[in-house]
Amino acid sequence: MTDRLVIISPAPTANGDLHVGHLAGPFLAADVCTRYARATGREALYGTGMHFTQNYVVTAARKLGVSPEHLRVRSAEQVERTLAAMGIEVDGFGCIGDRFTKMVLDFYQRLHGQGRLKLRTWRFPFLPSTGEYLMDAYVLGGCPFCLATGYAGICESCGLPVAPGDLIDPRSTLYPDEPLETREAEILVFPVEEYRAELADYFAKTTMRPHMAQMIEDVMAGPLPDFPITQPTSWGIPAPFPEVPGQVIYPHMEGMPWSMFTTALAAERRGAVLVSDDELWRKDSGTTVVYFTGLDATYPFAVVGTAMLTALGEHVVPAQYITNDFYELANEKFSTSRGHVVSGRELAAEVPRDLIRFHLSATSPEFQRTDFTREALVRVTESRLVRPWNRVAAAVDTWVGRGPLPVSERSRQSAQRMVERFAGGYGVRRFSLTAVASTMAEQLARLDQMAAGATKENAGDLCHEVDVFLRCAAPVLIDLAAAALPDTAIPTASDITTVTPAPLPRLTGAGG
Ligand SMILES: [Zn+2]
Repeated sequence: MTDRLVIISPAPTANGDLHVGHLAGPFLAADVCTRYARATGREALYGTGMHFTQNYVVTAARKLGVSPEHLRVRSAEQVERTLAAMGIEVDGFGCIGDRFTKMVLDFYQRLHGQGRLKLRTWRFPFLPSTGEYLMDAYVLGGCPFCLATGYAGICESCGLPVAPGDLIDPRSTLYPDEPLETREAEILVFPVEEYRAELADYFAKTTMRPHMAQMIEDVMAGPLPDFPITQPTSWGIPAPFPEVPGQVIYPHMEGMPWSMFTTALAAERRGAVLVSDDELWRKDSGTTVVYFTGLDATYPFAVVGTAMLTALGEHVVPAQYITNDFYELANEKFSTSRGHVVSGRELAAEVPRDLIRFHLSATSPEFQRTDFTREALVRVTESRLVRPWNRVAAAVDTWVGRGPLPVSERSRQSAQRMVERFAGGYGVRRFSLTAVASTMAEQLARLDQMAAGATKENAGDLCHEVDVFLRCAAPVLIDLAAAALPDTAIPTASDITTVTPAPLPRLTGAGG
């Protein structure tokens, strides 16, 4: 059976481009994790995409004066270009289409056919002037759990599900001055509480970062609320169930079939021929699924998604969620509407992307909010990466043409220790880009010292350890590694006795 790692970052809403805050969150981390898995000989697939059916697309399009259909296609194009500009290599980019719709409907028809979905009366804020029920981006108010102002659906601040009818002082996003009524509608829900025992078991053995662990503890302390599967609105995939005519599948609940969809696209792009769309998620597939996600996408996937997969009983359940906190710009939240953003594509046009990838790794918002400034990017990459690397590369270059040089047993051991140190940061269970970046800076500082004292006797050791260092750094420093190495495989155990030094490329600084 293939040992396959499937890495997924939930699709961002198709209401604009990705800024550096997004990239520093799930996307760079997922790319690095995928590259490392491959460098150590594991099959790995990375899937993401764009979420076309959330009504955030509708409200953002209204503000921009374009159609939602236009906005989401434009956003997807921008996002694909931005990911490529940063060297974030996505295997499967899943948006929408007949195959996706079919997978969503198949998934819910199976649950529906087994009697797993329940009809419930749900309260919604209602806008009399348009005759619309309001949910998600259509309605703004206070979160009943953390009190932060935000939209209905999933609270962006605390990550908990917020039923539109539970918002404090709700008001319409598009018509903020119009008074709202409260009306009831019958919708289909998934009764999450019925799967409490399975979820308790599951979370007891799932590795989580502290914020997610706290959220899951809070969630499990009370009754698990029913989660909507359909909504009385028009933007979305039409639900085929006779009990809820005219409703759509709740976009937050497309996540699990979407994950299988993007996995299938990823595998096919890498040459696989699949027998069924969910083949790589079947229980006997050998797949380990890992999500890289902000805390706000965690609840629908980890709690509701896992409970639904448990109910169906045919698929693997995700092994892990590597969550991130917010990445800020000069100690303020990135905000597209206020123009407080750094676009990933613009930055990559001005600064070598290896430096951006290193700096975003070093400041990755893994456990708490962290901060981006251009000044820190220039200063930190200059002192910890560019200058030491260029000195090391210059030292190695002086031995080019004078090899092969001998490699000592001590150097083989040092190289092995270095591989293990990096594995501590790259390994999925305790994956940490900040750990990878600090190991990189530490090891480079050590090699810099070695380079300063290199002699004919130990130059082979230096050249050998620089080669291994570069392989370990390659998942982050993609362009440097591509220019220097014929392949980026990370050695498991080395019995190398001589090395023939090759000229090394230099890094260009981020400028002033
Ligand atoms: Zn909240």
